[in-house]
Amino acid sequence: MGETVTIGNLGYPRIGSQREWKKALEAYWAGKLEETDFLQEMARIRLEQLELQKDKGVELIPVNDFTFYDHMLDMAVMFGIVPERFAYKGGQVSLDTYFAMARGSKQAAACEMTKWFNTNYHYIVPEIGGQSPALTENKPLAAYRFAKQHAGIAGKPVIVGLYTFLKLSKGFQQAELGQKVGQFLPVYLQMLKELEQEGVNWVQIDEPVLVTDVSDEDMEQVERIYRAIAQEVPGLHVMLQTYFEGVDRFEQVVQLPVHGIGLDFVHDRETNLQAIARYGFPRDKRLGVGLIDGRSIWRADLDSKLRLVETLAQSVPYEQMILQPSCSLMHVPVSTEPEEKLDPVIRKALAFANEKLDELKLLARAIRNSAEAAGELEASRQHLDRFRSLPQRNRQDVVSRQTEWAKLQDKRSLVFAERFPLQQEKWGLPVLPTTTIGSFPQTPEVRQARLRWRRNEWDQSQYESFLQEQIASCIRLQEELGLDVLVHGEFERTDMVEFFGEKLDGFIFTQNGWVQSYGSRCVKPPVIYGDVAFREPMTVKESVYAQSLTSQPVKGMLTGPITILCWSFVRDDRSREQVANQIALALRQEVEALEAAGIEMIQVDEPALREGFPLKERDRESYLDWATRAFRIATSSVKDTTQIHTHMCYCEFHDILHAILALDADVISIETSRSHGELIAKLEGEGYDHGIGLGVYDIHSPRVPSTAEMMDIIERALQVLDPALFWVNPDCGLKTRGLEETKAALANMVAAAREARRKW
Ligand code: GLN
Ligand code: ZN
Repeated sequence: MGETVTIGNLGYPRIGSQREWKKALEAYWAGKLEETDFLQEMARIRLEQLELQKDKGVELIPVNDFTFYDHMLDMAVMFGIVPERFAYKGGQVSLDTYFAMARGSKQAAACEMTKWFNTNYHYIVPEIGGQSPALTENKPLAAYRFAKQHAGIAGKPVIVGLYTFLKLSKGFQQAELGQKVGQFLPVYLQMLKELEQEGVNWVQIDEPVLVTDVSDEDMEQVERIYRAIAQEVPGLHVMLQTYFEGVDRFEQVVQLPVHGIGLDFVHDRETNLQAIARYGFPRDKRLGVGLIDGRSIWRADLDSKLRLVETLAQSVPYEQMILQPSCSLMHVPVSTEPEEKLDPVIRKALAFANEKLDELKLLARAIRNSAEAAGELEASRQHLDRFRSLPQRNRQDVVSRQTEWAKLQDKRSLVFAERFPLQQEKWGLPVLPTTTIGSFPQTPEVRQARLRWRRNEWDQSQYESFLQEQIASCIRLQEELGLDVLVHGEFERTDMVEFFGEKLDGFIFTQNGWVQSYGSRCVKPPVIYGDVAFREPMTVKESVYAQSLTSQPVKGMLTGPITILCWSFVRDDRSREQVANQIALALRQEVEALEAAGIEMIQVDEPALREGFPLKERDRESYLDWATRAFRIATSSVKDTTQIHTHMCYCEFHDILHAILALDADVISIETSRSHGELIAKLEGEGYDHGIGLGVYDIHSPRVPSTAEMMDIIERALQVLDPALFWVNPDCGLKTRGLEETKAALANMVAAAREARRKW
């Protein structure tokens, strides 16, 4: 084609190729690394990332995407937005205060953390109370200078847009947005002015909130912010960056007085494409073409990417385009290079951050000179073809069941009101039955044993008898405590998804595919690369063993289809709905196997139900429809007397209550110990009429709550909820707690339930 395009990046993974970043942070927190050594190590990691991007041919290299914890926290700290409890006295915020805000300290609880849009990354929520903002340090400027000085890179500072920053903060009412913009704008402009004075060319201002449903009033604020920037800082080239979805208010956004608009052409690409076809794209702006999926780990289909660029070229000249990932690459692992243990066909189908930068470069070369890039394009095509035709990805048995999905019965044979009395009779539980959410403390001993087994130091039978001992003592403990419905304790599980992924067809596990979840915490999501199918019972052995030790009921314990989906990297050639249904069908077989083996109370955890929520209102109902149906497919084939439990946590529930009801689980337990009143009122409003366990204590803290405290929560709940439907349980699994505090807390909980029973 002979055309020239620019290559840009939006953000690079912070964690280091071997998670050195995480290790440095944790060593520093543990007092094992001096501050100067810590800072030096961070600088070294950072430099490596900058140089790598330069080597990969990235022309617009992001700076200030790096952080010691989180970019939203950085913004808050830069503006001096430090909650009062941290006793901050103004001026530059110390490293200690910075980390105290992130992680809590002896004196002050940490700031809240919440999900970054629909990703698995969590940011620190700024608390904008009465404080007025001040520029305590210019972090983007420092990052720019660092790259310039040490790597000779004139980087592109990445800064959270003021609109997005305020929308994601808490501590003020939506009606006060205009006032807050007025307060913050001068400080924000001052920060940008310093960049301008330094000679910075491009800045990337991230406004992902623009892909959500933006009101007219909000749009006025957006216009106000960008008009002010254009006026006050005319020398800066502003790339207004959006990602994760299309921009509905394209017509207005594209008229903002900025120098570039970055759009996501991977997620919801049609919205953006159609908008450009319809309204055109202004000649005086660069178009940031979000071309390579920053959220998926798969090699891109470069032919289709080239076709997309050609389509865009009908409205936007090539030299106006900047080819870039759809969002920051912090959501994918660093490099596929260490993945030597993977099947080579699968390995070659993966593209992590570094490989995605290579793809961008190759695309740019193909656009400049298609003949020159032909060989590499062909190689890429072949890798993809080989992967696509893997039999594990095209299983006739799974696909033919797929066609049955539509017809599949996803309802229990009796409605809840009819099966409830049958269940009451079968189980004969006291009112306000007590139970737990599943896992019991995973002691160092348990972790050790698993490690030994993984390293083949222990054989299967050795490991299994160890697990049996753990289960037996867990059952004994629960009996001693007087709990009504017991669990086996989940000692065989590292986490909720990996355990199932290893036992189902269609999953692989990487060696080093880590991504940042929050702070120094990284996760290594399983990869769903093929059709998901049931191989053999996954949990029956442990549950049956636990049940054999007691006359109390033992709940079976599974992870639900949506949670398995949301916490994995998912193949992108099938819809998420299809993959969820495949998982659901496999779980249905597990549920049936448990039931056949005499486990007739089965909990299917779905903590991620809310996580999969689409960003735009209009997509939400259809998501909830298929998500709840997947859950019902997994759980509805059981007998009337079999009791299905579910558990949810980490989220707001108010906007999905109807979906929670649609799960039609017999009992749901919800993590609410920190926001009781509100939720109870809403449950009442929605007419929640199934069994419910509102967590009566917060398991995230080592504190042992008193019986009186828990009584109080139970009493408040019973003012609106039917005692016949109410369960008493902690608000989440106990895996991360110590054994002694767990015993004490559960003893108090059982005492509270018994006392409450005397009253109702
Ligand atoms: N059953 C799981 C456990 O107890 C549930 C964990 C969760 O909800 N996150 O660990
Ligand atoms: Zn939970």
